[in-house]
Amino acid sequence: MPTDPYAWIDDALKTIHRADWYRFVQAIQGHSGASVVLEGREVINFASNDYLGLAGDERLIQAGVAAIREFGTGSTGSRLLSGHRELHRELEKAIASLKQTADAVVFSSGYLANLGAIAALVGKRDLILSDQHNHSSLKNGAILSGAAVFEYPHCDVAALKAYLHQQRQNYRRCLIITDSVFSMDGDLCPLPELSNLADEFSCMLLIDEAHATGVMGKTGAGCVEYFGCTGKQLIQIGTLSKALGSLGGYVAGSSNLIDFLRNRAPSWIYTTALSPADTAAALAAISIVQREPQRRTQLWENVNYLKKLIAQHLPNLILLPSESSIICFRLPSATAAVITGKHLAESGIFAPAIRPPTVPTSRIRLSVMATHQARHIEKLVEVLSKIN
Ligand SMILES: *Cc1c(COP(=O)(O)O)cnc(C)c1O
Repeated sequence: MPTDPYAWIDDALKTIHRADWYRFVQAIQGHSGASVVLEGREVINFASNDYLGLAGDERLIQAGVAAIREFGTGSTGSRLLSGHRELHRELEKAIASLKQTADAVVFSSGYLANLGAIAALVGKRDLILSDQHNHSSLKNGAILSGAAVFEYPHCDVAALKAYLHQQRQNYRRCLIITDSVFSMDGDLCPLPELSNLADEFSCMLLIDEAHATGVMGKTGAGCVEYFGCTGKQLIQIGTLSKALGSLGGYVAGSSNLIDFLRNRAPSWIYTTALSPADTAAALAAISIVQREPQRRTQLWENVNYLKKLIAQHLPNLILLPSESSIICFRLPSATAAVITGKHLAESGIFAPAIRPPTVPTSRIRLSVMATHQARHIEKLVEVLSKIN
């Protein structure tokens, strides 16, 4: 008797359930914003990456609607065939202007930008050095490239240097890859030190600004600006889907780099161009990021207010180190994280439990928005005090 070749899926799901690693979706109704309706109940939103509150901004909505009216819903083909519009080029120029790089290229998501760029830049004879806490898209890009991969301990520049001393000469090209704001921790990569190491050992340096673009740095250009590294030769990756409130990804850097990626990045060449609505909304968002620095000011005021209230009222909360708008507190197990997440939701706070295998230790992840009001933050702290 042949056995059912799909039977293992049932077993795998049971194992996932037993570990409390099971994931499921929850529907948000209506607009995104500082508070949202989650499964029919209004909750304060600490779960979104919409740091500047732009995903529900009327100007982005109008830009998206106007682009659909003018160009239609789909872009109908890849950029190199029928999908390219002037609007894409305008967006790429706007990204390059925000980042102060010579050029930029937009991908259909940040995930695809990382897969495509990493796979194009290195291959079998090369070495990738990757921070242990890097985002899945960086890790999978490294695997896809076929290069040798060394995962260095989180932000450990000394370990990275020791490895380069031993191993650099055994490889042709070398690429260091890192999140700038670590997405599930909220701390920052040591960019100036990484950049010095890259210079010393002749490595390329790729930095993923997904959670920093629009948020970090005086003009919202990201951690590169925050650390005073603007103008350095870097490969800057990011997304249009977080602070920019749209969908899509990008790579920014030298003209040569961008030209090369347009010729060699498979996830750019062989996929359909970004839709007109997403492109137009992202373009509107970049203009707002550049013209309304008060949104960033408000965001940092909110972050500091939350940290102050936590220090005053929640001395037992174990916060992970954070210098961004992502603030996480640790819980002893996946089960404890899920229960806390549930309690929070029942008390009107939307903040997700983040568990293995996404992260090594379970936690609740709070992301602060510029559009949170003082009462939202106070309510969060009040609810947390009751749970603790
Ligand atoms: C979200 C994220 C991405 C993926 O971006 P998408 O546009 O959502 O595909 C890549 N890198 C990091 C660090 C992220 O947090």
